[in-house]
Amino acid sequence: MTLGQNPAEDAAENTQEDFLRQLRQTFAQFSNEIPLYLFSEKGKGDDVYVEATRQVIRVFRNLTSKITVKEYTLDHELAKKWKVDSSPTLLIDPDRYNIRWVGAPIGEEGRSFLEAMILIGLGKSNVSDQSRSVLERIDAARNVKIFVSPTCPYCPQQVVNGLKAAIERPEIVFLEIIDIQCRPDLAEKYNAHSVPQAYANETLIGQGAQQEEVFMFSMHKLDVQTLFIPESTDKLVKTDVVIVGGGPAGLSAGIYTVRSGLKTALIERDALGGQVALTPVVENYPGFMQVGGKTLVDIMVQHTLEHVQIYQGEEVLEIKPGETFELQTTRRKFHTKTVLLATGATHRHLGVSGEKRLSGRGVSYCSTCDGPLFKAKKVIIVGGGNSAVTEALHLRHIGVDVTLVHRRDKLRAQDVLANQLNENGIEVLWNTQVHEIKGKERVQAVILKNNRTGESSEMAVDGVFVAIGYIPAVELAKKTGLELNPEGYIRHDGYHRTNIAGIYSAGDVEGGYKQIVIATGQGAAAAMTIFEDLINPYWKKEQAC
Ligand code: NAP
Repeated sequence: MTLGQNPAEDAAENTQEDFLRQLRQTFAQFSNEIPLYLFSEKGKGDDVYVEATRQVIRVFRNLTSKITVKEYTLDHELAKKWKVDSSPTLLIDPDRYNIRWVGAPIGEEGRSFLEAMILIGLGKSNVSDQSRSVLERIDAARNVKIFVSPTCPYCPQQVVNGLKAAIERPEIVFLEIIDIQCRPDLAEKYNAHSVPQAYANETLIGQGAQQEEVFMFSMHKLDVQTLFIPESTDKLVKTDVVIVGGGPAGLSAGIYTVRSGLKTALIERDALGGQVALTPVVENYPGFMQVGGKTLVDIMVQHTLEHVQIYQGEEVLEIKPGETFELQTTRRKFHTKTVLLATGATHRHLGVSGEKRLSGRGVSYCSTCDGPLFKAKKVIIVGGGNSAVTEALHLRHIGVDVTLVHRRDKLRAQDVLANQLNENGIEVLWNTQVHEIKGKERVQAVILKNNRTGESSEMAVDGVFVAIGYIPAVELAKKTGLELNPEGYIRHDGYHRTNIAGIYSAGDVEGGYKQIVIATGQGAAAAMTIFEDLINPYWKKEQAC
């Protein structure tokens, strides 16, 4: 069949022609030369990956004269100068950038290569303003490795993130794109069994393709981040509601206040999600049979971010009551009609000798965070509530040798959880209290005391996990003059109104059942009270009487 006789073939040809025309138009705008340097091992110039790389380059060179290419072997001076020791390695404009492909940019990676040519040819990183502000905060080198494969459709997104960073901050971002098929040894070394996988300074920063800002933030923090909260530079924020605390109560309150038409700001000094973010697995939040605490938090935060500006990493120092409340944080001022305190609760400490000194050196309050460090080691977990049992099970599942130490002969935890201790062969020391935690640099042993017999014993352990409940975070409430109940929680009227008109409370800081579903419900209820009170302020009625 000759050309013109098959409509499907003609359409494909036309589409390809259109695409090439568009590419030529884009390439015609290139202001920069793009010098490429291809390195291969001596005597292996006909290697399949080297040849594939040449072919890709040839395709692009047919479209623009701005791309030049030089080939060298690994024993050349330039290979030493640019520290190239793997074949093939392709360097892109190495006098301006630190970008190298280890392997061939073929298959799906052709898309990444095209993006690299466009960004470098146009001399633009194309990063978003938010990404740029994160990149500006990085003050030390980042050696980024992104593992990819030619058949991975998600990889180009992550590679483009790396390219943008390397073009925006060429003096500190050193990017290596590594094809796991070409370098299985490196994939093995970095455990990159699924791609894309990104490392910065030998630390995992991303598994799977990340949103651009999340990638930049992970590279900045040298840790896998799952969220990016845009930063504000405003010195004064005027709003209807300020929510203090970004746990489930505060997050759900924010969704409700905004949907009631109230301008809302949420301030969180630490990590969003409160205690939930540290809970290994949640099995009783409706709609989720089983979900990681952090995953649940991420979903809640994403939802809240749709509505509310979140100010994370700043602390409310003072609340000045008045017609309008004035809040001073570590970064700015807020003027607001109402304040909702959803400050939650913090870990209760054992208060025994050695606990404070060895905190972070074997004493931990977060099994989700620190558990993996104790794999195949021996630890105790102290407590008898839902937290202690859930965390004991988590530790056991990740391969930690864990014993539960409880001060009574009956657990406070729900039966369904308590039964699993037995099923998982977790030993429980009943009627036992920790008397002392011993160790020089790190935890080495605990002194245990039996409450019934009064007997003391020493047990060699590598870690002590403490899960003995929480104490309400009421410092700010006390400073502002809010009344507390005899248990030390914020006193409220059943509708979340505190003793100061215009200030409300919700969640664990109010005491009662500490359940995620209850905290979210309280947040919603407090938001609805705020809405009703702003329409019909009860404090004005009181003044009028
Ligand atoms: P909790 O229920 O208050 O239990 C605290 C445990 O620590 C109790 O067993 C208590 O012993 C023990 N304890 C307290 N002070 C102690 C001390 N100085 N020395 C030794 N042991 C001490 O606290 P939690 O387990 O952290 O749970 C807090 C809330 O979160 C609860 O409402 C819980 O239901 C909820 N939560 C729910 C889930 C879930 O549903 N999946 C998971 C985690 C937490 P006694 O029993 O002798 O008082």
